[in-house]
Amino acid sequence: MPLLQVEELRVSFRTADGIVQAVRGVSYDVEAGQTLGIVGESGSGKSVSTQTIMGLTRGAQVSGRAVFEGKDLLTASTGDMQRIRGAKIAMIFQDPLTSLHPYYKVGWQIMEMIQQHESVSKDDARKRAVELLRLVGIPHPDRRVDDYPHQFSGGMRQRAMIAMAMALNPALLIADEPTTALDVTVQAQVLRVIQRMQEMFGTAVILITHDLGVIADVADEVLVMYGGEVMERADRRTLFFNSHHPYTEGLLQSLPAYGGARERLRPIPGQPPSLLSPPPGCPFAPRCPYVMDRCRTEDPPLAAAGEEPGHISACWLPHRGSERAELRRKLLEAEPAGTAPSAGGA
Ligand code: SF4
Repeated sequence: MPLLQVEELRVSFRTADGIVQAVRGVSYDVEAGQTLGIVGESGSGKSVSTQTIMGLTRGAQVSGRAVFEGKDLLTASTGDMQRIRGAKIAMIFQDPLTSLHPYYKVGWQIMEMIQQHESVSKDDARKRAVELLRLVGIPHPDRRVDDYPHQFSGGMRQRAMIAMAMALNPALLIADEPTTALDVTVQAQVLRVIQRMQEMFGTAVILITHDLGVIADVADEVLVMYGGEVMERADRRTLFFNSHHPYTEGLLQSLPAYGGARERLRPIPGQPPSLLSPPPGCPFAPRCPYVMDRCRTEDPPLAAAGEEPGHISACWLPHRGSERAELRRKLLEAEPAGTAPSAGGA
């Protein structure tokens, strides 16, 4: 039984302009101790889906199931969610100051988290706070425990937030763009800290990012989201070396090292779809270089995409490698990338 099982999650918001369908039938599992990377551009629904699971999308219309340790989080009481948040499932965000209050000392905030959920003395909570700061690589933690967040650098604040998130040894850590605001060196250090804490505590991790490069070294499985839907899911190796979906292909081509260091980056042309009234058919059709007639009217279901177990993709292109490559070649020869009007159904 997976640690977290999300089934047919749908989330929508009523706005002045109409109903925004932010998440449209998303399903995935997270196994204990594993890392699931969720990747997609801004507006793909990747953050809204996990925030909904944590009960943080007030006012949203929600359906589906999100079963964690046998309990459906979408129907759990406020009291149950308060007990689960922090103790069983912890979250870290792009901006550490959403979790660290600037008015209180870093160590005090970690101690507060521990003492809210466990009956331990102030001295013991402080010892644990110092130890956690040491584990995430804060130098001189016995002194820095009494610093305020503004006395920490950006990378140190992110480490402190990880320390606070891990204070109660949660079964699941949700890290939402945890390295986006950091430079590349600090980003790599923070990812290593998350990995090390995961290995030490056996925690499962959902790592949400817009950048496939961030999950290249850390994810066991990768879920690619677009327009509120899952486009592809595969183990990391399959996704990077044998992906099926054209959107994943676009994300890979926008990575700096794809095809050699000297190759120019190729951003995906066009914009993500409006989720106010999503068009029929495949949500990626207006930007897809391989678009066919049926793509514009029929939304492809997720289906097995190749030899690797668990590899699924929502695309009408053939799933067999050679057939797929041949059709892609023909479609690309017919029209320049991003402008191919139609080539009949697959
Ligand atoms: Fe969507 Fe069609 Fe492109 Fe596949 S080939 S991603 S179904 S538009």
